[in-house]
Amino acid sequence: PWEYAPAPESREIANLKPSYRMFVDGEFVDGGGEPLKSINPATEELLAEVSSASESDVDIAVRAARRAFERTWSTMPGRERAKYLFRIARLIQERARELAVLESLDNGKPIKESRDADIPTAAAHFFHHAGWADKLGYAGYGPDPRPLGVAGQVIPWNFPLLMLAWKIAPALACGNTVVLKPAETTPLTALVFAEICQQAGLPPGVVNILPGAGDIGAALVAHPGVDKVAFTGSTEVGKQIQRSVAGSGKKLTLELGGKAANIVFDDAPLDQAVEGIVNGIFFNQGHVCCAGSRLLVQESIADELLEKLRIRVRTLRVGDPLDKNTDVGAINSAEQLSKITELAASGDAEGAERWTSPCPLPEKGFFFSPTVFSGVHQSMRIAREEIFGPVLSMLTFRTPAEAIAKANNTPYGLSAGIWTEKGSRILWAAQQLRAGVVWANTFNRFDPTAPFGGYQESGFGREGGRAGLEAYLDV
Ligand code: NAD
Repeated sequence: PWEYAPAPESREIANLKPSYRMFVDGEFVDGGGEPLKSINPATEELLAEVSSASESDVDIAVRAARRAFERTWSTMPGRERAKYLFRIARLIQERARELAVLESLDNGKPIKESRDADIPTAAAHFFHHAGWADKLGYAGYGPDPRPLGVAGQVIPWNFPLLMLAWKIAPALACGNTVVLKPAETTPLTALVFAEICQQAGLPPGVVNILPGAGDIGAALVAHPGVDKVAFTGSTEVGKQIQRSVAGSGKKLTLELGGKAANIVFDDAPLDQAVEGIVNGIFFNQGHVCCAGSRLLVQESIADELLEKLRIRVRTLRVGDPLDKNTDVGAINSAEQLSKITELAASGDAEGAERWTSPCPLPEKGFFFSPTVFSGVHQSMRIAREEIFGPVLSMLTFRTPAEAIAKANNTPYGLSAGIWTEKGSRILWAAQQLRAGVVWANTFNRFDPTAPFGGYQESGFGREGGRAGLEAYLDV
């Protein structure tokens, strides 16, 4: 064990304030809810107090969004909306360093990921959707596609600013206004985003940010003034939301959990596959809905691959999220850490073989060593349930048909990966796999032009690309 303290200048770079307020109708205001405490998961220290919404604040914010929808945003020509979105994208780029450090402090993710993935991809989403705002008529939606109205959006803690961008950019491009609730453990970058909206001169009420816990999310999605609900989070809460909006006439999209199979055939380039497997499960501590958490390996290469994988995982550096050499940062909360610990223990109890990377962990903070289970069977909980942590479950298969059958043996269907030199097998497997995304000889690649979303209990609706616009338009 070793002691870790974040460099004092990190607070300055992140422009960290002792307290943050919610953003309603273009102003920062105090909410009527119990303030949230934002904790640095790598040190367990308090980062900031965050004002949180009450149910009556939800009502005030939805009314503000409605006024903005009717008076300015929905009637503004697309080319004017585009200017605001381009401005927001550029401001995210200008404030990228501040946002990246703040995201790593609040979430625990390695700085190289917030710097190279979260923040630039968030900016890219605004650039991409800025480009759509004045071209919706050409996109096959008829000459005059209509926005839906007020979007109530609820997001999780694993990619706080990026999930916000996935939600807000298409909504605004199509002419909707937004009330968004960030996750209770990671509200900070959403409130800096609110500052960016002010800086960009966005008309008041177009974007409203309401920090709060699940009850505020529930109040938002149930509010009669909300026309469209967009949720990213757990399948369990997604189902509750689906029940709550049933019969209301609201449009709904759900981006939920996953248990992706990463399938390695005996002809795969093994060293490249090992990199993809490591990225697939240890990127963002495994807090990724499309994480390649089930490794399916052809039996004839299983021992060799496992050996190579262990050698590679030993080299991962776990610890200080703000050190640019860190590969695996902190688990976002004590609650998530205990969920991971409990599920991993079920792997031991059900007879899987646990291997843990020997890297030393910091004494304080929420950390979990990269873990690989082998000898896993489909009936085990670690093969069926989403762990949402740095834990990989390895299973084997003999034939391609068996690989597909095992990969599809899940109630989820968000993503899958396949590793093989055979192009024909890639095309065949992509058709056979019930997953919204299938990566071939790569993993965890995202682009705003590519629609992302699930099958089955991973939800419905797409985010990104032309398909992502459909969720925010009446055609
Ligand atoms: P969660 O469902 O517990 O919480 C997500 C959000 O919903 C939070 O903001 C929370 O406050 C809010 N919430 C909780 N109860 C609610 C209710 N009854 N009504 C409305 N809102 C409510 O999920 P989490 O633990 O924050 O995130 C992890 C989950 O998110 C994982 O299952 C992961 O797979 C999923 N996820 C999916 C995608 C995707 O694109 N499919 C992306 C990221 C995360």
